[in-house]
Amino acid sequence: MKILVTGGCGFIGSNFLNLAFEKNFDSIMNLDSLTYAANQENVKSKNFKNYEFLNIDITNKDFVEKAILSFEPNIIVHFAAESHVDNSISDSQNFINTNIIGTYNLIEVSRKYYESNNVRDFHFIHISTDEVFGDLTEKGYFKEDTPYDPSSPYSASKAASDHLVSSWMRTYKFPATILNCSNNFGPNQHNEKLIPTIITKSFSREDIPVYGNGLNVREWIFVEDYCNAIFEVINQPSKSIFETFCVGSGIELTNIKIVEKICTLINENYNLEFNCLDLITFVKDRKGHDFRYAIDSSKIKNTLNFSINTNFDDALMKTIEWYRQKL
Ligand code: NAD
Repeated sequence: MKILVTGGCGFIGSNFLNLAFEKNFDSIMNLDSLTYAANQENVKSKNFKNYEFLNIDITNKDFVEKAILSFEPNIIVHFAAESHVDNSISDSQNFINTNIIGTYNLIEVSRKYYESNNVRDFHFIHISTDEVFGDLTEKGYFKEDTPYDPSSPYSASKAASDHLVSSWMRTYKFPATILNCSNNFGPNQHNEKLIPTIITKSFSREDIPVYGNGLNVREWIFVEDYCNAIFEVINQPSKSIFETFCVGSGIELTNIKIVEKICTLINENYNLEFNCLDLITFVKDRKGHDFRYAIDSSKIKNTLNFSINTNFDDALMKTIEWYRQKL
């Protein structure tokens, strides 16, 4: 099986590739334009010989076409995106280009490749977010049939990409799966995101910024658990093609609670001369800040036997230690 990944030098993509190198794929291609969020060094291909990296921008349809037609993949996992909500609020152009046009280029080129070559084993996996559903009050959960109601330019661009993929599934019988996942954490994430910010600011004894009153709620999944969900989708195409799955861990925390938890773990496990909790600083809230995200993952659990394999505190400690070593 030949697998093509987009955005493999980013956070989730690089974790996915590092696990994929240990699986039985015949060859792996990674298309990534190396934006500020990418780091090629996070991809550890080690002894895996048939790995090819192409510095390609998915907004260029000709480049995408050349890559797909030359590699002839059986599986495409599409991670590439502009992914930071704050950046989308200050300038949305790259989000429209990459998340919408880039996704269009990939599915249209893939569709023609799939149809004209009569490729029997082909599966396109679209990596999306729970943010396409907007936000929740204290009650309720996002599920596969929750209506789309995105709040930010980021989530609106991801919602648009989901609609493109699902319309290709319906109109062209394009063999795809859409995954809407909650917030991931783990090694290899850019420092701009919440958990890397908490850890790096703690060790460098700088203010840890918390939006608003810190009571916004997020559901956190360790990136390796999410990658395992993607491998389940790959391994069970007959149960997952033409389906959408919501993926989460069930671990919901307010932003202030996750900050306090990480600060406490750092206080307990490292010999710092100060208390990290004293660094917490409330800052002006994000515009249009979604209140709560929470996922009902029962469909993927029941259909693909997906389960969370990691202990939350162990995964947080692994993450903390990874960032500490990078300082
Ligand atoms: P990331 O920002 O860390 O990485 C994105 C990668 O895509 C980078 O390597 C970047 O160079 C590449 N890229 C961006 N624009 C490109 C372009 N035009 N052409 C080619 N490559 C390009 O993102 P991430 O956190 O790893 O997220 C991956 C996917 O998962 C995204 O689609 C995101 O919407 C989704 N997602 C992320 C989370 C999360 O918590 N991180 C949660 C749910 C869904």
